[in-house]
Amino acid sequence: MIDFPQDYDYLFKIVLVGDPKVGKSYILSQYIREDFDLENKDTIGVEFDQKFYPTMPGQDKILVQLWDSAGKYGFLQKLPSYFRASTGALLIFDVTKKDSFLNCEKWYNTITSLADPHIQIVLVGNKTDLSNLRIVSRQEAEDFAKQRNIKYIEVSALTGNNIDEAVGIVVEDTMRLIR
Ligand code: GDP
Ligand code: MG
Repeated sequence: MIDFPQDYDYLFKIVLVGDPKVGKSYILSQYIREDFDLENKDTIGVEFDQKFYPTMPGQDKILVQLWDSAGKYGFLQKLPSYFRASTGALLIFDVTKKDSFLNCEKWYNTITSLADPHIQIVLVGNKTDLSNLRIVSRQEAEDFAKQRNIKYIEVSALTGNNIDEAVGIVVEDTMRLIR
């Protein structure tokens, strides 16, 4: 059971989107629990977890929910509630799998067609620790992001590198919108 705190100023629902196996569930567990659980099972359907965004005392309390889903492209189209009330999205691909990057276009269109137009989207290149298996360059990912006026960040759910920063970009951009 998730302990649901009542005492917060904002609830930011951030959806994780991308091909199977890009590391959505590992990113969630790295962000929420700061671990890398090798026993992590495949996601069944939809799940979420949450924690407070680190802020200074006296600042607004932001509860960050990360929503994770299983399934190939097409699954989320039949599940518009996944995007309902979402404030942000991490559009994730695996830098060692070209298809997962090429499919970002379809996933991006899914987000923009099903989510609120104000949703803050960040493109996330995961598994950057596998540098010798890398196929997708930083440049082509940056070009994709630039064309859509979104930000790009490279992360590793294995080492935890830039995971907090990726969520941080979405949270800070959302705060800027509502301030
Ligand atoms: P999902 O289907 O998108 O939820 O993908 P998972 O989170 O289950 O990750 C798929 C597999 O990729 C995992 O079993 C891990 O072995 C691997 N993985 C995920 N993130 C990383 C990463 O940052 N680096 C490396 N080397 N492997 C990762
Ligand atoms: Mg998963």
